Amino acid sequence: METDIDINITRVESSKLKDINLENIPFGKYFSDHMLEADYENGEWKNVEIKPYQPLVIEPSLAALHYGQSIFEGIKAYKDANGEGYIFRPYDNFKRFNISAARMCMPTIPEEIFMEGMKQLVALDKNWIPSKEDHTMYIRPLMFATDTLLGVRPSDTYKFLILLSPSGPYYTSPMKIYVEEKYSRSVKGGAGFSKNAGNYATSMIAAKEARAKGYDQVLWTDPFEHKWLQEVGMMNVMFIIDGVAVTPELSEGTILNGVTRNSAIVLLKEMGIEVQERRLSIDEIVEAYKKGQLNEVFGCGTAATIAPIKELGYGDYRMPFDVETFKIAAKLRKEMDDIRYARIPDTHNWMVKI
Ligand SMILES: *Cc1c(COP(=O)(O)O)cnc(C)c1O
Repeated sequence: METDIDINITRVESSKLKDINLENIPFGKYFSDHMLEADYENGEWKNVEIKPYQPLVIEPSLAALHYGQSIFEGIKAYKDANGEGYIFRPYDNFKRFNISAARMCMPTIPEEIFMEGMKQLVALDKNWIPSKEDHTMYIRPLMFATDTLLGVRPSDTYKFLILLSPSGPYYTSPMKIYVEEKYSRSVKGGAGFSKNAGNYATSMIAAKEARAKGYDQVLWTDPFEHKWLQEVGMMNVMFIIDGVAVTPELSEGTILNGVTRNSAIVLLKEMGIEVQERRLSIDEIVEAYKKGQLNEVFGCGTAATIAPIKELGYGDYRMPFDVETFKIAAKLRKEMDDIRYARIPDTHNWMVKI
C-alpha cells in the first residue's frame, strides 16, 4: 500500500476557532478551518488537497443534484485526557464507503486518499476536537457525481470531500419510536445497506409524520408485511429480551451494516451476554413486552452512540420503558466511551491515533 500520497495543503490565514465555544455546540452545525477535496476524472483520482473550508462552485446541471449519485460516511474523532487525538474504526467506514460507491455505480476511492487524507486533515485541525464528555469531532466524507449533463447514466466525474464538524450530542434525551407500517425504507435488491443520499430523502416523510404523532423517529419494518424489523431511523436497533441481545440480521442487504452495531456485538459477547443476529418480528417484541421479558431497547449509531428508547408505539399500542433500568445499554455505553476516550486499553485495535 502506498501511503506517501501527495496532498497539497493550503492553510487558513487565521483560525475561526476563537469564535466558537467547543463546550457548547449542537450536532453538525459548525465546521473546522479546513476540508479535503479530490476530483475523479479520466478514470483516476487527482488534485488531492487540503484547503480552507469554503463554498463549492457548481453548475446547475450537476448530475448529483438531478439523479442522486451521492454517498457519505460518518466517523468520530476523540480527544483523551492528555490531549491526544484518535479516530474510532475509520477503516471500517472506508470499506463501507466503497461498498456504497459500488452500489451507486460510482468509482471507489483508494485507501491512501481516504485514510491518509483523513488523518492529515484531522491532525491539522486537531485543536477543533472538543474535550468535553459527549462532545466529539464528527468526520463527514462524501462523494458525488459532477458531470454536467441531463442524460441518465453514471457520471464520468466525481468529487470527494472530507469535512470536520465539532459536535455536541445528537440526541439529548431518550427517544420515542413509532413502528412504521405505511412507508418503507428498503427492500431486498434495493440499496438499504448503502449510505447514499436518496435513502435519507425518502425516509424523512416517515419521521415527519411520526413527529406529528408525538414520536421522535420510526422503527422501519419490511415492505411486504410491515412485520419484520429493520432499523430505527438512521440507527441500528437492539433489543434485550430475557437477558439475550437480539438485533435484525444483515443478510438481505436491507439494513445498514453499522460500525456501532458491530462494536456493540463484540463488546456484549465479551461481557458474557448472548447475541443473536436474526429475523425479528414486531409480534415477538409485543409478546415479550406483554410477558415482561422485553428488558431494554436501544439504537446504535455513530452520531448518537447508544440511544435508549423510552417508548415504542405500534398502531395504538404503546410500550413505555423505564430507561433508568437499562443496565446493559448503560454498561455498553460506558465501555464504548472508555475505549473511545482512551480511558482503557484498546484491545481490539479500533483506535487510530493521529
Ligand atoms: C450510518 C447509519 C447507521 C449506523 O451506522 P454506524 O456505522 O454505526 O454509524 C445505521 N443505519 C443507517 C440507516 C445509517 O445511515
